[in-house]
Amino acid sequence: MDRPSHPARVPVEVRAVRARADAPAAALDPGASPDKSAAMLPIDLRGKRALVAGISDDGGFGWAIAKALIEAGATVVVGSWPPALGIFETLMSRGKLDASRTLSDGSKLVFEKVYPLDAEFDALEDAPAEVRENKRYRERGDFSIGGMAKALEADFGAPCLDVVVHSLANGPEVKKPLLETSRRGYLSAVSASAYSFVSLVQRTGPLLRPGASVLNLSYLAAERVVPGYGGGMSSAKAALESDTRALSYEVGRKYGARVNAISAGPYASRAASAIGFIGKVVAWYGASSPLPEALTAEEVGHAAAFLASPLASGITGTVLHVDKGYHAMGLPHDVEAKLPPA
Ligand code: NAD
Repeated sequence: MDRPSHPARVPVEVRAVRARADAPAAALDPGASPDKSAAMLPIDLRGKRALVAGISDDGGFGWAIAKALIEAGATVVVGSWPPALGIFETLMSRGKLDASRTLSDGSKLVFEKVYPLDAEFDALEDAPAEVRENKRYRERGDFSIGGMAKALEADFGAPCLDVVVHSLANGPEVKKPLLETSRRGYLSAVSASAYSFVSLVQRTGPLLRPGASVLNLSYLAAERVVPGYGGGMSSAKAALESDTRALSYEVGRKYGARVNAISAGPYASRAASAIGFIGKVVAWYGASSPLPEALTAEEVGHAAAFLASPLASGITGTVLHVDKGYHAMGLPHDVEAKLPPA
């Protein structure tokens, strides 16, 4: 497909709106003119379509990111892991997620389409027979990354995507220290959690519209020691962050799109709860971070919406820490209390 080497910029919409009738301008900014005090720089994603890969319930970052993108006006299609997709569909259809589906204007979040996606496979023929014949997979059609990309093109044409979010990870030996991790477990973690991003970008790249934004979710264990985050998952996140930089160059030149990572603080999603002690990690961050409070999924969603928007048109190849500043700390906040008296 022909691509402009210098894609047209998506104009940043800067609207000056009138101050709310019930808020006197002087109260907002004494001394400023009413019009200036009411100027807004909106995140406006109307007319954009996002793919969020990695939603199986309403308890993780993928859901929060999809919701923020929809709040900003985008439509969202989802890639969802077949083993969890049946339960997700049941939760949605029985109204169990209705509270989380409620948007700020009172309407309900709706996904444009949900595709089956197992990000360990680039093409259907890569999946072993035992997976293809498994009861959670066999009725789902082509659940590979390539299959999802083809289905997207068949459904919406090409190009059809403005935002691609990779919000998935899997490491079967995550509870094992690296010293005890098998080759199989390590490679599985890197395959599901890091190469899956490379493959997703390879296959959705031709579907990207100029000015598109690609995003993944990383964790501090990519760059610092986090005991308990084992099984090659720290290695996978390090690869993911390195690939974010390499792909930002390749994708920028080839498709005029941006590639970034959000390194999120801990959050008790289903995936994180599998590690076993996520509650303690959340509490530790809450006590130790420059902003001593728990991170919300909405905060990650809002950062993702910003990175997806034209407001971030100058940002690519970066890892944005959304963790209440924890990554910046060099010593525990209460180091004196922890040490015996000198
Ligand atoms: P989550 O459970 O909401 O998301 C993980 C998703 O990955 C699930 O929907 C799961 O079904 C899907 N998945 C697993 N294997 C898959 C496969 N082979 N193919 C397709 N999908 C698959 O949990 P989350 O914590 O929100 O995780 C989202 C991302 O955020 C992950 O990359 C994770 O590493 C990252 N992250 C999480 C935390 C945290 O503390 N929760 C912190 C930093 C980064």
